[in-house]
Amino acid sequence: MLTESTRDTAAAVLHDTVPAGDYWMKVVRQGQTLRILDTHGNQAADTLFFNADDPAEHYSAVDTIREQGNVYLTTGSVLRSDAGRPLLTIVADTCGRHDTLGGACATESNTVRYALEKKHMHACRDSWLKAVQEHPEFGLTKRDIAHNINFFMNVPITPDGGLTFEDGISAPGKYVEMRAERNVIVLISNCPQLNNPCNAYDPTPIDVLIWD
Ligand SMILES: [Zn+2]
Repeated sequence: MLTESTRDTAAAVLHDTVPAGDYWMKVVRQGQTLRILDTHGNQAADTLFFNADDPAEHYSAVDTIREQGNVYLTTGSVLRSDAGRPLLTIVADTCGRHDTLGGACATESNTVRYALEKKHMHACRDSWLKAVQEHPEFGLTKRDIAHNINFFMNVPITPDGGLTFEDGISAPGKYVEMRAERNVIVLISNCPQLNNPCNAYDPTPIDVLIWD
């Protein structure tokens, strides 16, 4: 569902730009609102969420989909943990659909989807591993990397139950906003993918904003 935000960009307590291929990891406190902004359109923000007070509890696509009875995420979606508890709620969305089934790009999947010689190319999973390694203070390890959300990615289910990666429905300036229902570690890989026509082979920056 398309819903615009009433928040004033100038009032944000944080406004970061994340280049394509980089990661962004911070704690969003309970009650704060997080916006991810697709600055150029059709970029993918591959995102993991953890309970900051117990990082063993992570975002769960299975629990989120089951409880809302819908495979797509948009305004009103409650993003749940593997303990079934709300981590965040989507409160505004000008894109209208986000994927949580397709998973993130990895060097292994690059070889299957594109070509064997793509194995060395930077992928979202590498960015997550780098983030976890460079920031031990969050208490995360490789084992904690679980389900993710691909904000701005359009991955429709076909009538026979398959998945297709379709051209994006996002555009420059589209955004999604979430209210944190508890203290949440947010780990975004701004996708470096150069092989996927979804982003016109041109990964672009995203902006991340937080309001108190
Ligand atoms: Zn990716």
